[in-house]
This record gives sequence, structure tokens and C-alpha cells, in this order.
Amino acid sequence: MDCIFCKIINKEVPSHLVYEDEILKIFLDINPATNGECLIVPKNHFKTIMELDNETNEHILKIEKKLYLIFKEKLGCDGMTIMQNNDYGQEVPHFHIHLVPRYNKDMFRTTSDKDLLVDFENIINQLND
Ligand code: 5GP
Ligand code: ZN
Repeated sequence: MDCIFCKIINKEVPSHLVYEDEILKIFLDINPATNGECLIVPKNHFKTIMELDNETNEHILKIEKKLYLIFKEKLGCDGMTIMQNNDYGQEVPHFHIHLVPRYNKDMFRTTSDKDLLVDFENIINQLND
């Protein structure tokens, strides 16, 4: 399969390895938002969250908690933003989670297009419709 993350998992493409076990591989993002941004990538080629199974998800949660402690201790981060894109906004169509270590006064931003924002009532009405 022509998937960059499958290739990294199979060692056909190099990566800076943070952690690996039988279920997943974690490596540094090639274009980090902050120092130490890494990607948690299940070894199975799931495309989006819709294909992810509960067992893998539970395993990921455990590893995220461990890594958060390690990143705080070793990288001195002050927080961690965890995010995951599905379909729109997803550059690599192999499920992965971004762990973004956060540092006091870092410039990490999630931007929003103010012109596309509707009021809160509108959102709740749409969700309950
Ligand atoms: P997405 O937009 O799919 O949520 O995020 C894909 C991420 O994968 C991006 O942050 C991008 O920098 C990273 N990425 C893309 N290609 C490679 C690669 O070949 N190696 C590594 N380490 N990261 C990559
Ligand atoms: Zn893949």
C-alpha cells in the first residue's frame, strides 16, 4: 500500500522513533508545531476514527498518559495538546494522533475563520434537530 505511515512502520522510510510496541509506533512529526510534537500511529492501517477499535483506543490512552509524564519530566513541557484529524484536514490517510507538547508562551494556535462561525444557539439547534 502506498501509505507513508505504513512505510515508516515497516521501516521502508526512516523516522525518529519515540516508542514502539506490537500495536503502535510513535515518532516525531517531520513538521512540528512545537519541540517534540509526535504522532501516535497504530500499526494497522485504519483511515479514520470510524475504523479504530476500542482495544487500540484504550491502549493509546494508556500510552498518552505515560508519555505526558515523560515529556513533562524530560522535555520540561508545561502541558500537552492532543488532536486528531479525520477526512477534511487530514493530510495522511492513516489514523494518527498528534501529541503537541505545550510550553509556557509558545505560539501554538488553532485558528478559526470568524466569517464561518454561527451563534451557539444555532449549533445546539442543529445538533438537536
Ligand atoms: P494530519 O494533517 O494528517 O493530521 O497530519 C499529518 C502529519 O504528518 C503532519 O503534521 C505532517 O507534518 C506529518 N508527516 C507527513 N509526512 C511525514 C513523514 O514522512 N514523516 C513524519 N515523521 N511526519 C510526516
Ligand atoms: Zn497506512
